[in-house]
Amino acid sequence: MNRKDFLKALAFLPATGAAVKLNELNNLTRDMDNTERMPVLFLGHGSPMNAIEENEFVSGFRKVGSEISRPSAVLVISAHWETQGTFVTAMQKPRTIHDFGGFPKALFDVQYPAPGSPELAAETRNLVKKTEVGLDEKWGLDHGAWSVIKHLYPNADVPVIQMSLDYRQSARWHYDLAKELAALRRKGVLIVGSGNMVHNLAMVEWRRLNETFGYDWAIEASEKMKNSILSGDHQPLVNFRSQGKSFDLAIPTPEHYLPLLYTVALQEKGEEVTLFNDRALAGSLTMTSVRVG
Ligand code: ZN
Repeated sequence: MNRKDFLKALAFLPATGAAVKLNELNNLTRDMDNTERMPVLFLGHGSPMNAIEENEFVSGFRKVGSEISRPSAVLVISAHWETQGTFVTAMQKPRTIHDFGGFPKALFDVQYPAPGSPELAAETRNLVKKTEVGLDEKWGLDHGAWSVIKHLYPNADVPVIQMSLDYRQSARWHYDLAKELAALRRKGVLIVGSGNMVHNLAMVEWRRLNETFGYDWAIEASEKMKNSILSGDHQPLVNFRSQGKSFDLAIPTPEHYLPLLYTVALQEKGEEVTLFNDRALAGSLTMTSVRVG
């Protein structure tokens, strides 16, 4: 069944309760078309202002978007959705969540009305064996998702779902969970981790917020991370708490770092990895982004 037929079929589903709908969806998604293997991205999202500013990072997001074939849907693992348990957004129309404070009104005015994809949510739930994946109807798109995806698909015409981070779990657990998503790459789905590899807000030099420089420890951690990513040696990345002081300063809390593990875990044998937006910012952040495949 192609996508158009699927959407047509979806329109005729009876609205007689979620259980019936989901069973129908499961049957329908079983034969979602196979495609060439889609790349996987990690996007360093930085400040929410990147949603509305013009800068080199935004150009980098736009460029990578133009280089990748158009996906059937996007699945984002964002630093900004932490939950107890694992959930995927399953609504038809995810709201734009302005999950920040102290920014100009222009940023709160941004809407990113990309459709959801209940079929991809159901597909993801079926695919994952490691844990129960809940279908969420309340979240939407947080700024970790929309502030960057809007530069890849400015017309908001590609469906987007999010998968949450279970904050109780270890880095190894997240890395292993990510591997279970591999089949989605062949169903035209673009998987995107959104965070920042080096992310220490307490040490940001706020007066030099837009300046591209990093403290020594930030550069050291960043170089080590990049070496591991480019050489495909993921063990130091997974065991990030055993990498010494520079990693401890770079990753004071894991939520902005863990999305990177989802991206690298999906690298398959012999697959190329490239970096872009590879800059330190305001001393204690890096915008370094990764493309796998
Ligand atoms: Zn963030």
